[in-house]
Amino acid sequence: MRVYNTQSKRKEEFVPIVPGKVSMYVCGPTVYNFIHIGNARPMIVFDTVRRYMEHKGYEVNFVSNFTDVDDKIIAKANEEGVTAQEISERYIAECKKDMESMNVKPATTHPLATQEISGMIEMISTLMEKGYAYNVDGTVYFRTRKFKEYGKLSHKNLDDLRSGNRSLLVTGEEQKEDPLDFVLWKPKKEGEPYWESPWSDGRPGWHIECSVMSKKYLGEEIDIHAGGEDLIFPHHENEIAQSECCNGKVFAHYWLHNGFLNIDNRKMSKSLGNFFTVREIAEKYDLQVLRFFMLSAHYRSPLNFSAELMESSKNALERIRNAVSNLKYVQDAAVQGEITDAERAELAKVMEFENSFDEAMDDDFNTADAIAAIFDLVKYANSNVNAENTAAFVSAVRDEIIKLCDIMGIIAEEKEELLDAEIEQLIAERQAARKAKNFARADEIRSQLLEQGITLLDTREGVKWKRA
Ligand code: AMP
Ligand code: ZN
Repeated sequence: MRVYNTQSKRKEEFVPIVPGKVSMYVCGPTVYNFIHIGNARPMIVFDTVRRYMEHKGYEVNFVSNFTDVDDKIIAKANEEGVTAQEISERYIAECKKDMESMNVKPATTHPLATQEISGMIEMISTLMEKGYAYNVDGTVYFRTRKFKEYGKLSHKNLDDLRSGNRSLLVTGEEQKEDPLDFVLWKPKKEGEPYWESPWSDGRPGWHIECSVMSKKYLGEEIDIHAGGEDLIFPHHENEIAQSECCNGKVFAHYWLHNGFLNIDNRKMSKSLGNFFTVREIAEKYDLQVLRFFMLSAHYRSPLNFSAELMESSKNALERIRNAVSNLKYVQDAAVQGEITDAERAELAKVMEFENSFDEAMDDDFNTADAIAAIFDLVKYANSNVNAENTAAFVSAVRDEIIKLCDIMGIIAEEKEELLDAEIEQLIAERQAARKAKNFARADEIRSQLLEQGITLLDTREGVKWKRA
């Protein structure tokens, strides 16, 4: 498997630190509002990376944080007259609902910055002891120029940064030794949440949070660190500086960054106001369509959001789902008995579609080509599989489509709600089966309905049914 590493600027063979295991950290959202579909892009693409690695047999320890203390959260809390904690808890819960509807698996651990303050104080103390940090009136800064490798991820040259970035000197930070130095700890302002520390009552800087949560849940040296490309500089560059100076180890072996989700070729963002929340999209579309849309482009390419592309994703997804549901009918009508030798040979061909799928994904998670492989399989199924095949063969082909989709987090098997009329018809069929003493069929219908959440009650007035 080859993955593109932002740090080396090339695709590298993926070799995990511990064979068979992957440790992966993905920077999560700041929770002060509903997430927008730009925030959903890293969630969907890195969930797909995780699923693919699991498909390859790796055990993935996947950590993704929630930044639950931040100026924007505090501002929102003041606006509403509630605590910052109330705001972050509310939007973490909403974010988790969105993740579930996008079929993004929960992380192995979702740490919260506010629950990890003692680890942050510990790391900052070590950096102070080693001379990498200094305290000015309760604000602690990282001494950037002391870390010789600073800039190795974003390929920025320290001297260029220093001369070109006077703007880095934010008002109130004139006390810094160097404009490039960044905050590790800052004193509280009136009305802000704070924690006690050796330097001041205050709160951590954003970058130190991820260094600490990654270390605590994954160790000092991890396989993959990921996030949107806007995080390369300064966030990830600063994380590397803090972690490597504190731990004396390489922080992350592979740096993966997704491209932006744009709208009219501009980055979708809260500050520009050009965003759609995941919730808004859910009013118009099944969120599986959103997932399909995101995966139809390579994760490193910019992706422009448009109604047309969403429509074509919707149609494409429908084609897959139609094939899967047709195969169900074909299977029901197909020949019983053992798979034939000819079919066994055909199944070897079916496996070739999986090989193409894997090849695409092995090449830096080329989901667009992987989806193309799924379509080739769908085409094959539509023109080669019919009721003259054995049910076992039809089911194997159908399962293969479902499986490849599932690796991408796409649900190909629609659990359609039965219409009332369909339920009545099945009940009538069940009554007829009972009359004919075909109890096996009658039971089969009962359990088929149960699977759809419909329970039957045999009463004196006849059969009644209700939805779960
Ligand atoms: P934030 O809440 O702004 O810290 O963002 C959370 C995650 O979403 C980070 O990994 C960002 O890089 C990513 N992100 C934010 N906006 C976009 C966008 N328009 N396209 C792709 N990723 C984004
Ligand atoms: Zn981070």
